[in-house]
Amino acid sequence: MDPVELAFEDLCSRFDMYLSTLRAQGDRQRGLLILDKTTRESSLQRLAADFRRLGTQWGSAIHNIADIPFFVDSRASRLTQCADASPTLCSVDSTPAIPSILDLIAGRLYASEDGVIHGLSHKTQASIALHCMCPACLSRRLART
Ligand SMILES: [Zn+2]
Repeated sequence: MDPVELAFEDLCSRFDMYLSTLRAQGDRQRGLLILDKTTRESSLQRLAADFRRLGTQWGSAIHNIADIPFFVDSRASRLTQCADASPTLCSVDSTPAIPSILDLIAGRLYASEDGVIHGLSHKTQASIALHCMCPACLSRRLART
């Protein structure tokens, strides 16, 4: 599968799961996806519609995300610049210049009651994840013990 589409599916699924948890606690708000403008706008909107109608590869349909994703030019939106995931991704890849950015936000990422961080994902081989010390891999290992 295309890596951008896979990441988008993962994002939609995790965001929907987070909103489902809030809904179970009485917060009935729906979420909105705002993404940086891309040439893939049409394909991602089509995918979002498919996830709502057919479900994701993990089986569940998306119910808690309102409307289609909206695309904005991040150069014109400070909020979109702030939410840009690239510093986080660099940090997971152990880029020495950036690790403090992930350290700053790691405690604010969505985690389930068992401690698994769902707001951060490390797409790697299982053999690497077994020893990886990034918050995403580590939280999953600790939850299994
Ligand atoms: Zn990892």
